[in-house]
Amino acid sequence: MKRSTRLIHLGRPERTGQGPRTVNHPVVRASTVLFDSTAQMADARRRRDTERLFTYGVRGTPTAFALEDVIADLEGGFGAKLYPSGQAAVAGAMLAFLKPGDHVLVTDSVYQPVRRLFARHLEARGIQVDYYRPDGSDIPDLIRPETRLIHAESPGSFTMEMQDIRALADIAHDAGALLSVDNTWASGWAFQPLAHGADLSILAATKYVSGHSDVMMGTVTTTEAHYQTLHDSWLTLGTVVSADDCALALRGVRTLPIRFDAHGRHAMAVANHLAARPEIAAVLYPPRDGDAGHALFTRDFTAAAGLMTVAFQPDIPRARVEAMVDALDLFGIGASWGGFESLALICDLSNRRPDADIRPGTHLRLHIGLEDPDDLIADLDAAMLALGG
Ligand SMILES: *Cc1c(COP(=O)(O)O)cnc(C)c1O
Repeated sequence: MKRSTRLIHLGRPERTGQGPRTVNHPVVRASTVLFDSTAQMADARRRRDTERLFTYGVRGTPTAFALEDVIADLEGGFGAKLYPSGQAAVAGAMLAFLKPGDHVLVTDSVYQPVRRLFARHLEARGIQVDYYRPDGSDIPDLIRPETRLIHAESPGSFTMEMQDIRALADIAHDAGALLSVDNTWASGWAFQPLAHGADLSILAATKYVSGHSDVMMGTVTTTEAHYQTLHDSWLTLGTVVSADDCALALRGVRTLPIRFDAHGRHAMAVANHLAARPEIAAVLYPPRDGDAGHALFTRDFTAAAGLMTVAFQPDIPRARVEAMVDALDLFGIGASWGGFESLALICDLSNRRPDADIRPGTHLRLHIGLEDPDDLIADLDAAMLALGG
């Protein structure tokens, strides 16, 4: 079966053998699971750490198991665990594999709240962090015997730098470290980090997997070698997700390939249009020919998402860009992305490294939704009148 066919058929009752033969997996809301006898319960308890058994809600419901199977296939991994948000998934991955004394290398282009995770939580518990250049050029200077994990994100948040995941995996493994990749932009559909040597792939399933801006969810998918460690930590921390949210994520993920295709086509039309506008200094969108990350993109990725950043000419004041965003009609002003709707967000790049390769000028992140791109382009053009002041 091809991948898109498996996305339609995995995790459904006729394959899991769970519940009635509805098209969609039933929503199994549960804390307590009842047993016929103490002997049956004792038997389940003996087997529950090595087999996937439905014995108590915190260990996951059949609805969650169905979603785990779909995500593991989407990401090309052995197994996946579910978390209540993308940020919780990053935290869950770190807590599963790090201990006091360990050192972590995190890409300087990382999703910004991950810095807070290290600054406010992990560093206080004896885990050291350094931020490396997204191209990996300074990793040889930063890596230490205690380096346990390298964390990548490709393309990175806001500045959209592509990373060479295969090369990073080799560096990590030569140093006895793991490579984790935040794969939210590609969402498992356009790129599978585990197939390129990574050990952990993390998704904010809040974004394209759910696809409708109404669910918070995160996933960590890993190889057979690391699955038990991930599972044990996930269970110990009690990071459970609701069956209702799993059902929404399952509904979303069925249409991921066709939504992704449309987001990518619409985004390319918008990117090409904006690149020709004199107010725009650069369109940061790796699928586009001429982008700094285009070679890595074409080498590794099979599809384009709808998220890009545009850099305005440096002589345009930020206040004018804000006025332009306020003048947009079809783009929402808000956090997150990956839903069916277009969004605009001015980027805060203030916590990038001082030597980061960031072009001057205000940066605006655009999520290109499923609206007709002609309408989005007309909306952007009209709003750009506000740039003149
Ligand atoms: C949104 C996002 C996250 C966090 O996901 P939440 O579900 O919002 O917590 C993590 N990584 C990337 C790249 C993101 O864009």
